[in-house]
Amino acid sequence: MKKIQMVDLKGQYSAIKEQVNASIQDVIEHTAFVNGPKVHEFQKHLETYLGVKHVIPCANGTDALQIAMMGLGLKPGDEVITADFTFAATVEVIALLNLTPVLVDVNSDDFNINVAAIEKAITPKTKAIVPVHLFGQCADMEAILALAKAHGLYVIEDNAQAIGANYTYKDGSKAKAGTLGDVGATSFFPSKNLGCYGDGGAIFTNNDALAHTIRGIVNHGMYERYHHDVVGVNSRLDSIQAAVLDAKLPKLDGYNAARQAAARKYTEAFKDVDQLVTPKRSNGCDGGICDTCDCHVFHQYTLRVTNGRRDALVAHLNEKNIPCGVYYPIPLHKQKAYADSRYNTADFPVTLQLVEEVIALPMHTELEDAQIEYITSTIIKFLNG
Ligand SMILES: *Cc1c(COP(=O)(O)O)cnc(C)c1O
Repeated sequence: MKKIQMVDLKGQYSAIKEQVNASIQDVIEHTAFVNGPKVHEFQKHLETYLGVKHVIPCANGTDALQIAMMGLGLKPGDEVITADFTFAATVEVIALLNLTPVLVDVNSDDFNINVAAIEKAITPKTKAIVPVHLFGQCADMEAILALAKAHGLYVIEDNAQAIGANYTYKDGSKAKAGTLGDVGATSFFPSKNLGCYGDGGAIFTNNDALAHTIRGIVNHGMYERYHHDVVGVNSRLDSIQAAVLDAKLPKLDGYNAARQAAARKYTEAFKDVDQLVTPKRSNGCDGGICDTCDCHVFHQYTLRVTNGRRDALVAHLNEKNIPCGVYYPIPLHKQKAYADSRYNTADFPVTLQLVEEVIALPMHTELEDAQIEYITSTIIKFLNG
């Protein structure tokens, strides 16, 4: 059995080596290293794949979120509601722009932002909601969009973990994660579902005026050469990263299918284990194991260990050379940078429980059956022992 890795980028590369190498070589020959033709080609291909009018590539996913908020014209003091249980980048950019982050609790079954908690947190100062499509599936977007409409709020999707996932509306129609709200932001960090070989990100929108504003912001607020109409940033995708992404984009559905297949095997193996709660698929299918639905692209396969032995399990897996992760170990409202007397422990019962219970298992496109079998049997033996 090959050594088990949390993410196997080398294995994935060896299968696409020729395309990627040729594509990178092409960029070097043409020397348009930043925002060259490759970036434009990738942008167009991603627009088609997502079914969205505008993709604006940028330097990373954190910038993508920040630029989306700048593009919407959010102002210091505006309140922005997001999840307490997410990667810090989401709340970081809110704070950086001197907006007021308002953290709310999440759901215990799909780990996504809780709609009732959003509703409770809305004040006259609220300007936007940032649902994070955590671990690879959309938050309850139909309810969030309805709430936003009723209160005149923007919806900014943090789609760093769910590129390629479908969202199914109640009427059966589908849209790609990140294209449902006013604007979406994604990351092409190497370990994300569509990853480049460095940093990269993109912003998605169907709004022509917003797309125009954002295209200037990513390039120093410049709409005409050396005319700076707004304060912008330097956040561009470099052409070598675009070359990698353009070579990988046609494989994305296959990559996500490989993740889903691994997730199904995990869930099947754990179905009779009382101490484990397997991740629920909350949109577009009936939860649990599902063969036909693409609602969840499993950026992470995250379980809950409900008998208080999560940390012991982590230690045991480390001993057995099985990598695992705890995403995330500390609620954002308890992080030094974001703690605030506005927050009440009683408002975060689920997040406080999840940080004690979650464990993410190895998840990538190259997992072999023997590896999954070793991982699941090691876990089951430990929990029964
Ligand atoms: C990875 C990630 C980001 C940030 O993306 P970078 O490209 O690393 O800046 C933002 N939000 C979430 C939820 C992420 O997982």
